[in-house]
Amino acid sequence: MLKFTWTNGKKATRLCPCGYLGHYNGKCHCTPDQIARYRGKISGPLLDRIDIQIEVPAVPQETLLKQADGESSSDIQARVNVARQRALIRQNKPNAQLTVSEIDVLCAPDAQGAALLQQAINRLNLSARAYHRVLKVARTIADLAGNENIFASHIAEAVQYRRMDRQG
Ligand SMILES: [Zn+2]
Repeated sequence: MLKFTWTNGKKATRLCPCGYLGHYNGKCHCTPDQIARYRGKISGPLLDRIDIQIEVPAVPQETLLKQADGESSSDIQARVNVARQRALIRQNKPNAQLTVSEIDVLCAPDAQGAALLQQAINRLNLSARAYHRVLKVARTIADLAGNENIFASHIAEAVQYRRMDRQG
């Protein structure tokens, strides 16, 4: 279910015409206008099909070589296994394989979450497909947190992963 974007079918997609947007070397001088025009070439329906879209900034090599101080990979793996088990017990399949009608039943957020999602749909002009993807991702975020209910915080995080959607 986790797919990272930046594939437009040909090569890894750059975030701006020069390819250095957000890079620590500060080389990018692309204007917001140039960036918007450049991103307009990536089709909306294609982005709709991607569950999670995040921008990954370039990291200096010395940072990569340093010891990570976050959660260890094995801890994360254990947490993912528990979340996956939770999904299988609930619905006999992983969240990524839920159908639209199953999403409506199994991924319904609480009232606050529903209100937040409505706002996000209006603001980001999300398609029906993108809407269901947000709910599926929110379901997975809730499962990872060990929550049977989907709260506004889970919706907010899932919406964050759709930042490349068109603004309208
Ligand atoms: Zn640039």
